[in-house]
Amino acid sequence: MYIVLIGPPGAGKGTQSQHITEYLGIPHLSTGEMLREAIAQRTPTGRHAEPYISRGDLVPDPVVVEIVGERLQQPDCARGALFDGYPRTEGQAESLSEFLEQRGKQLDVAIEIAVDDEELLRRIVGRARTASRPRTDDTPEKFANRLRRFHEETSPLLAYYEERGLLERIDGIGSPDEVWRHTKQAIDARLQD
Ligand code: ADP
Repeated sequence: MYIVLIGPPGAGKGTQSQHITEYLGIPHLSTGEMLREAIAQRTPTGRHAEPYISRGDLVPDPVVVEIVGERLQQPDCARGALFDGYPRTEGQAESLSEFLEQRGKQLDVAIEIAVDDEELLRRIVGRARTASRPRTDDTPEKFANRLRRFHEETSPLLAYYEERGLLERIDGIGSPDEVWRHTKQAIDARLQD
């Protein structure tokens, strides 16, 4: 199964990703993690991406499309993958569907983890207070910018996937286990199709 996970920063995509990849035995492709790894390794991609990430802006499509394309060539992605935080723009979505099509595959479902802004802001304040080594883009100001980017650039993807009959909307408010129960139901329904 090829699954896209969409949600604003702080929605709990990381936790749901762990459940999904374990449940389906598919690799977890988090572009945020790949980019942070590239920065830590000081690769050319990392150096290019760093200023965007540290502002909370989106990294330009060609950079992200390339690292995902490379990762998707690995044999463990031949039967499925979970895309966490990718695509984030319509350009990325088009490029993903082309990539899969060229290989005779297709996206099975786009799962939206929906959490309203008020709750997200509450969560980020809590996270900043308790984390011992917070991510450099997790300050309230940068978080606010990431949230704005989500609304401006990524949320149009919800309509994009809805039009294609691929969208499943999950209420992201509740305990992580509760959210997982709903996510699993949505996946099981698609597995039966
Ligand atoms: P979050 O969902 O909490 O913002 P991520 O780890 O998914 O966290 O992303 C962190 C940052 O990495 C983003 O703010 C952005 O700068 C960059 N990034 C991650 N994925 C993408 C993507 N698909 N397109 C552009 N930039 C991305």
